[in-house]
Amino acid sequence: MDSLQSESLTRSVLDENVGSSSLPCRPVDADGSHQSRKVPSHRGARELAQLYSRGKRIQEIVSVVVGLGLMMINLCFVIYYFQPQFSGLFLLTSLAGIISADFSSGLVHWAADTWGSVELPIVGKNFIRPFREHHIDPTAITRHDFIETNGDNYMLTVVPMAWVTYTFLFSSLSQINDGYGWNCYVILFAVFVSMTNQIHKWSHTYSDLPKLVKYLQDYHVILPRLHHRIHHVSPHETYFCITTGWLNWPLEKVRFWNTLEWAIERCTSHQPREDDFKWAQKRN
Ligand SMILES: [Zn+2]
Ligand SMILES: [Zn+2]
Repeated sequence: MDSLQSESLTRSVLDENVGSSSLPCRPVDADGSHQSRKVPSHRGARELAQLYSRGKRIQEIVSVVVGLGLMMINLCFVIYYFQPQFSGLFLLTSLAGIISADFSSGLVHWAADTWGSVELPIVGKNFIRPFREHHIDPTAITRHDFIETNGDNYMLTVVPMAWVTYTFLFSSLSQINDGYGWNCYVILFAVFVSMTNQIHKWSHTYSDLPKLVKYLQDYHVILPRLHHRIHHVSPHETYFCITTGWLNWPLEKVRFWNTLEWAIERCTSHQPREDDFKWAQKRN
C-alpha cells in the first residue's frame, strides 16, 4: 500500500499537470450561463470537452431538479413517519445505504472506464465521454459547475426516488411502518449516489475547500484526496470507488476488478480500457 501510494503520488502529479494549460479562458456557451473554462493542452481532452452539448445540459438540469425534488419530499416523509423505536434501524440502513453507494460508484466507474467507447450511439457521447475526459484532464472536473458535476448522478436516483414517493403516498400506515427501514435504505443510497461526483470533485480540489469537507476527507468519512490519487495512476485499473472509498482496499485485496475483467475478456475477447488508451494517445 505505501509503495503504491508514493508511486501514485509522483505519477498522478504528472497526470494532474498534463490536463490543462494556463492558456486564456474562453466561454462555453452550452446554455449561455455556463462558466468559462481553461483550454486543455491535451488534444483528446479538447475534443471531449467540445462534445458537451446543449441537449446534455438540458438532461442534467432536468435530472437535478427532479432527483433533488423527489429526494427532499422523501426525506420529509422519513421525518414525518419517524418513531423512536426506528432509531437503530435508521442507523443500520443508513450505513448499508452508504456502503451500497460506494460499491455502486465503483461498479459504474469501472464499467465506464473499462468498456465501451465514446463512439457508441447516445451512451458514448453523453455518459462515457466524461470518464475519458477525466483521465486525460483530471482537473477539468474542478471547473465544472454544480449541474455538470452532479447531473448524471441525480438522474440515477430519479426512478428509485419516484418509487419511494409512490409507496409513501399510496400505502397504509402499517405498510409504511413495516417498510420504513427499506425506504430509509433506498433514500440514503440515493442521497449518497447523488453526492458521489461532488465528493469526487472535492478530492481533486486543492484550494478553498470548506473546513467541514477537509475534516471529513482527513477522517476518511468521504473520499480523501491522497486515496483517490491511486486511481489516477495510468492505466487507471484500481480504486474505482469514489463515494467514501471504503471498499477500495478490500476489493483490491480480493482482486475483484481484475477477476471481473479477466472473465469478461475471456467471454467477449474485448480488451479492457481500449478506448481509454486510445484517447490518452491523442496528445497533440
Ligand atoms: Zn476513472
Ligand atoms: Zn478522479
